[in-house]
Amino acid sequence: CGIVGYVGPNDTVDALISGLRRLEYRGYDSAGIAVSTPEGSITTRKKAGKLARLEELLEVQPVEATNTGIGHTRWATHGGPTDVNAHPHLGDDGKLALIHNGIIENFAALREEAEAAGIALESETDTEVVAALLGHRVAQGEDLESAFRGLVPRLEGTFTLLAMHRDEPGKVVSARHNSPLVVGIGEGENFLGSDVAAFVSFTQRAVAVDEDNIAVITPEEVRISTFAGEPVEFEEFEVAWDA
Ligand code: GLU
Repeated sequence: CGIVGYVGPNDTVDALISGLRRLEYRGYDSAGIAVSTPEGSITTRKKAGKLARLEELLEVQPVEATNTGIGHTRWATHGGPTDVNAHPHLGDDGKLALIHNGIIENFAALREEAEAAGIALESETDTEVVAALLGHRVAQGEDLESAFRGLVPRLEGTFTLLAMHRDEPGKVVSARHNSPLVVGIGEGENFLGSDVAAFVSFTQRAVAVDEDNIAVITPEEVRISTFAGEPVEFEEFEVAWDA
């Protein structure tokens, strides 16, 4: 299972798919992407099975992507490996997309909360409730980052999470708890990955995100902070890898 995020002016779909390709060694049963579009919406494509099946889908149903995207390979824990259960999952009436590696242990309580708020869930995953509750916060007026900061500390289990919102193109927010997350620093573009393989063919400058930290990337900026919101100073390292 793997995660990749991209913000920048280059080919977003290519960055996501080639990142997922390099993460294939981790094993997975489904794959999917979400990208921002010229119309100002978010489009997703997701498919059970190998990455090649997602690529076939993208040939038949191409996406026109702008500068923001997230990509996921899933190893199913909650709900079988189906197209519907594949990530990304959506919130805020399709305006928000979220991907997750790991397990949300308290998802049953969170699901009840989402249902009490009148949100219909489509999948059997633990992940979709996070997308639903994050979207609910944004729908009630919070921006993506403050909604994310409010929700993430309430999640129990293991997670690397990435989220993007239609109304905030050029931004991906991410968090980790008992699950890996690294940032890749480019020139006018930035990346997120579950490991450096996600972006090493584009940049070899990386930052390891520490446990219980939140990382926010835009094309020009990387910000890391604790769950409590304290800014974290970080150091780059050079990936020793012949891409
Ligand atoms: N628990 C999530 C699911 O079953 C994420 C699994 C993963 O790590 O890929 O959808």
